[in-house]
Amino acid sequence: MILKEKFLDDATKSIIWQVVLEYRKKRERAILKNNLEKEKFREELYQIKKKAILNIEELKKKAIENLKENGIEVLQAEDAKEAREKIEKILEGKKKIVKAKSNTFNEIETEGFLADKELTETDLGDFLVQIFQEKEIHPVLPALHLTPEKISQKIKEKFGKEIDPKPEVIADFVRNLLREKISQAEVGISGANVITSDGRILILENEGNISLISRYPNTHIIISGFEKIVPNLEDALKIIKASAIWGTGQDFPVYVSIISGPSKTADIQNQTVIGAQGAKKVYLILLDNGRSKILKEGFEELLYCINCGACLNFCPVFHQIGRNYGSRYLGSKGIIFAGLSENLKKAVDSNCFACTLCSACFENCPVKINLPELMKKLRSLTEKENLQTKENQEMVEKIREFGNPFGKIEEEKIPKKLYCC
Ligand code: SF4
Repeated sequence: MILKEKFLDDATKSIIWQVVLEYRKKRERAILKNNLEKEKFREELYQIKKKAILNIEELKKKAIENLKENGIEVLQAEDAKEAREKIEKILEGKKKIVKAKSNTFNEIETEGFLADKELTETDLGDFLVQIFQEKEIHPVLPALHLTPEKISQKIKEKFGKEIDPKPEVIADFVRNLLREKISQAEVGISGANVITSDGRILILENEGNISLISRYPNTHIIISGFEKIVPNLEDALKIIKASAIWGTGQDFPVYVSIISGPSKTADIQNQTVIGAQGAKKVYLILLDNGRSKILKEGFEELLYCINCGACLNFCPVFHQIGRNYGSRYLGSKGIIFAGLSENLKKAVDSNCFACTLCSACFENCPVKINLPELMKKLRSLTEKENLQTKENQEMVEKIREFGNPFGKIEEEKIPKKLYCC
């Protein structure tokens, strides 16, 4: 049972719905433009990820070897705490940090982490969410709920600058502000979309902020779960294409950075110098944080996820309660991930019992992750631990006793408790 205050307001629901309708049209156009047979491509992606996850230990070993050979410092972190400690150590003595959107960074973040630093979000949506001191509402469109009027009002309050409430004017104002921050930053932090076992890190974007933060500051820290590793660049580019099509309905992202190491030059008498115009030092924090447990417990499909957010666009529960349906990652994926990587109580608190098992997520997932089946499996784990909600326990007892979840039904009378929201 979900409390009324957890529901989104009607205006936000309506914005989400408009965005979803537009997204659907764009996605179909992008599939056509790429000349793809949708189901064949989904199956291909499923097989790429399945094979990669089956061989993940070997791929990880190769990737680490090759990345190190390329000059990238690879640090493995068992859990979120270790990842935070490693990042803090790299940031010792440094103050100005610029950050790009990273789901993995959100995964390890805790209150107070890097509070002594000047950390600026450089994705426009994340920057807006940061100045509003809110949480993102969608992984791809974090500021979906903020109107241009609200944003220009906030800019006036925060920066004392009056600007027209028009998206292009807001984008221009933020562009100038962020360019100044990026040019002064000592460290850039980002996530990764795909890593190849031959030592490449691929990051996609539209805004251009990731290209800047990965090249302008002296140090670039990349944080990623190890499940992002695939054998080669060919597979990686298919995942990049799918991320664009299913993520935002584009036929391909505006930019894809393929990072193989710190910047270098051999232009002076063929002597290699590390640190030309890009980052001088590149770190990769490779995170486990429950992923090995996910593999061990038979939930490996969850690690096929490419974080495109398509499942959320079609989830009827997310459309009603927004980020109350999920944990650090939103939606069913986030709930199952939280249940396994943190604890089962977290999955219950993130509303695992609100899932309708309608399968819209499964049908719209580019990697064919059967989230409803994983959700059922997770719920049975919570049952074994006796963690179900009171309402669910009542319903189960009534089904056992009366063959229906409402209890004794009297003719022409509405049952006392309907267990609806
Ligand atoms: S579960 Fe599938 S649809 Fe949802 S974010 Fe992951 S890859 Fe995208």
